[in-house]
Amino acid sequence: MKEIPFGRPLLGDAEKRAVAEVLEGPVLVHGPRAAAFERDFADWTGAPRAVSVSSCTAGLHLAYFDLGIGPGDEVLVPAQTHVATAHAVAFTGARPVFVDAEIETGNVDLEQLAAAVTERTRAVSIVHFLGYPVAMDRVLEIASAHGLFVVEDCALAIGTRYKGVHAGLFGDVGCFSFYPVKHMTTAEGGMSITRHENLADRLMRERAFGVDRHVGERRVPGQYDVTRLGYNYRMNEIQAAIGIEQLKRMNDFLDRRRENFAALAGAVDRIEEVRRFADDCGDRESSRYCLSILLDDDLIGRRPEIVAHLNERGIGTSVYYPKPVPHMQYYRETYGIGEETFPVAARISGSSIALPVGPHLEPDDMMTIGRTLEEAIASVKRHA
Ligand SMILES: *Cc1c(COP(=O)(O)O)cnc(C)c1O
Repeated sequence: MKEIPFGRPLLGDAEKRAVAEVLEGPVLVHGPRAAAFERDFADWTGAPRAVSVSSCTAGLHLAYFDLGIGPGDEVLVPAQTHVATAHAVAFTGARPVFVDAEIETGNVDLEQLAAAVTERTRAVSIVHFLGYPVAMDRVLEIASAHGLFVVEDCALAIGTRYKGVHAGLFGDVGCFSFYPVKHMTTAEGGMSITRHENLADRLMRERAFGVDRHVGERRVPGQYDVTRLGYNYRMNEIQAAIGIEQLKRMNDFLDRRRENFAALAGAVDRIEEVRRFADDCGDRESSRYCLSILLDDDLIGRRPEIVAHLNERGIGTSVYYPKPVPHMQYYRETYGIGEETFPVAARISGSSIALPVGPHLEPDDMMTIGRTLEEAIASVKRHA
């Protein structure tokens, strides 16, 4: 039986050589590789500036911190996302105000988002769900009508484009993740991109204690001042060295995702009892993190058996996300949120199965997944 894992980092000789080179030298942090990776990532996405950070979560937190979001403020956050999206807001003392998803795409419902704006709203957090772009025109319209900042969580959106423009470039800041099972990896790591030069300059200081001069900029070694608060959210040279090599493979990774996705979509579309989220159309290009299917109502209770059938045959699956964030214990208890809220996000959490399409797999594997899923559904229906 061939294993078909949900995700697996693809690291080769180039990455190993790059890491070894860092270890041979004396510079582990504040070196040339992080700066080079930032330039490469900016070029690749078309961003004027990119700032490397220690994770996407750190990048998001730093963005809100820099924008002055804090106690008394509200930030609109999609209910259907990774908990980091909401945590990054909560770290600042601001209140995350959750907004339900739309069933067609899994993205935030933009009309509900517009309706959730209050006098306290300062910013909107946008997540491109599984890499499928949000209609950013409408987001910017809402944001500018109310003078709101926009922060894009692009953790799964390397390669996501809306009207030809890369995700992360619509809002004030866009944050990417290089966690092992994302589109590319640096083990842990993240990158923030922005159109605003001043903001990028400030993020560079705030990710390193708020010092006014970095190591390379000091005329007298050891002499610096601190002009603001700042965290230690830097990316190190080992991570950056891996990132430079991974980014060179990004177009190939995306081509393979596209090919796998098309093969699996064809197989899934032949199965009557499931549907999938909206596909690319003219102005929307997904990064295709995975192919998530939604089970029909009468199969929802059978999801554990269907997943077990797939897993026992070596096919890795996941769920995005296990619960809407506001239904997670911490958020329920902290903000007094009931479980009857956010019905669409809850429907997606409760009835979806995420199937792999990553570059570690091939179209043949997609045929196996499609066939096995069909079998699994037939089997649970026989044992109704
Ligand atoms: C993975 C993920 C994050 C967190 O990224 P880290 O780099 O692990 O901090 C945040 N948001 C979304 C949508 C994610 O998928």
